[in-house]
Amino acid sequence: MIKKNGNLFIISTPIGNMNDITYRSIKILKKIDYIASENYKNTLKLLNKFNINKSIISFHQHNELINTKKIIKILQKNKNVALVSDAGTPTINDPGFYLVRECHLKKIKVIPLPGACAAISALSASGIPSNKFCFEGFLPKKEKKRCEILKKLKFEKRTIIFYETPHRIKKSLKNILKEFGPNRTMTIAREITKYWESIKYNTIYNFYYKYKNNSLICKGEIVLIISGYVKKNKNKLSKKIKKTLSILKSFLSLKKTALITSKIHNIKKNNLYKYLIKKQNNDKTLKLLK
Ligand code: SAM
Repeated sequence: MIKKNGNLFIISTPIGNMNDITYRSIKILKKIDYIASENYKNTLKLLNKFNINKSIISFHQHNELINTKKIIKILQKNKNVALVSDAGTPTINDPGFYLVRECHLKKIKVIPLPGACAAISALSASGIPSNKFCFEGFLPKKEKKRCEILKKLKFEKRTIIFYETPHRIKKSLKNILKEFGPNRTMTIAREITKYWESIKYNTIYNFYYKYKNNSLICKGEIVLIISGYVKKNKNKLSKKIKKTLSILKSFLSLKKTALITSKIHNIKKNNLYKYLIKKQNNDKTLKLLK
């Protein structure tokens, strides 16, 4: 006989504003048999607001492994279970990964119900490139480890997302400044969807300076978004050099133009020649396209 299993629903809950629960999530919460919850009090508040009455199974980082077994047994008895965390999307820096993996291994259907996630909300409002990013969760508590992680991430080209705590933000900014330098842009998203919501965009240095001088509030929940590493172009030519090249090019061959410009500006002849060839090819292509 083939056993029919229940489903595991991964339900995202609001990260501040209770109205951010979706219609579908409420509908499913009303239908399922059990709720596996990271935080009993928060879940009860949410259920009360929407008049939902369900059995809650405690599911947090200290009982996650043992309760995974319990929940799998429930699912195998053809009961439906919803997984919710304290706030936001379960498994994103919250418990649930073991349970989800176990469901896949036991051929139990896992159904995600999309909704609030602090990292994605902050990224969407950051003004920092968001097509490619990496999520790093919380930086380590110990400064030495924090700096080691930041050192490894220094040349990461994708936008970087960190979760941060108010009591560590100043120290972390100091370390970020030291490892990433002052000029990269950064967005600090605080208390998203709540009364004191604040999304600020600035350079690493300006944030460090403002927090150091207490001109920015460091209370509440925080997400840091930092722009990825951009390779500096050491061979970038100044306007003056480009002007010399353009004048000489009208009278001389590319090779001679590069040679004389290199003498005038004390710059490598090869770089100038490569630039001239590239420019010539670009100009030709543009002409063809006209
Ligand atoms: N699973 C959650 C999610 O989907 O966002 C994240 C859980 S993690 C344990 C909690 C951290 O998320 C907080 O310390 C903070 O860095 C970030 N966070 C949660 N709610 C937030 C909010 N309303 N505004 C800014 N950051 C928030």
